Amino acid sequence: MPFQFFGTSGAIPSATRDNTALAFYSPTEVVLVDCSGSPYQKILKGGLDPMRVSSLIVTHRHVDHLYGIPSLAHNMGLAGRRATLHVYALPETMSILRGFMKLFPLEEKMPYRIELHEIPPREGYPVLQAQGFRVLSTPVKHGAPNIGLRVEFDAPVERGAVVYSCDTSPCPALIALARGADILIHETTFLHSDAARAASDGHTTGYQAGEVAARAGVTRLILCHFEASLHDRVEELQREARQTYSGPVEIPGEFQEYRLGAYAGR
Ligand SMILES: [Zn+2]
Ligand SMILES: [Zn+2]
Repeated sequence: MPFQFFGTSGAIPSATRDNTALAFYSPTEVVLVDCSGSPYQKILKGGLDPMRVSSLIVTHRHVDHLYGIPSLAHNMGLAGRRATLHVYALPETMSILRGFMKLFPLEEKMPYRIELHEIPPREGYPVLQAQGFRVLSTPVKHGAPNIGLRVEFDAPVERGAVVYSCDTSPCPALIALARGADILIHETTFLHSDAARAASDGHTTGYQAGEVAARAGVTRLILCHFEASLHDRVEELQREARQTYSGPVEIPGEFQEYRLGAYAGR
């Protein structure tokens, strides 16, 4: 059971799409990527066990990617968590996390610890080894220091790689990270008519996401991080990506489970 989206929107959510965040998992372990909305509720809504969450990877310091952390940490403690929660982030993001720990005394009277791990900004850095999969990171091109992730599943039933671009402009390092992956999850914040804005804000258009997928030679492309004004027009982003990439291009639903190799033809 490889992954699901806890959100698929850009910085402003809508009634149907929340800020982009993901959960990768095996039957025994869950790793969260970014943390927005009510994360504890999202874990439950996704049919996962909050106590199986071993780690959280925080990609960058922008609010829409990390504001749920105090709530997650607080809920975990109240629910009786005992196991240490491991949180991974770049040094620049870490200062925000330390600020959270000070602002909300997250570990005070809590039955568990939160352990922070710095991710060095290096290409192909091995962030963590979970049960059934491992995660590598690579710096990408955004307004704040940020990382793309490659999740490699090596469980007997699930094998292969999923790459998540996070927020970025089209980026050679991300193409290298995504080389030959089964699935590329790429942000598509804007339509190509807004290419100038996408470039200045460190984002990608539908047309460009298709180009990245084609260059990386991935099997499937899933789009996400849609600007709120496009939530009713996501097919246009999909159509753009299909102009530059001949493989399947999917628009994800939230809390829908994705498996490697199980393309449903959406
Ligand atoms: Zn974002
Ligand atoms: Zn961002």
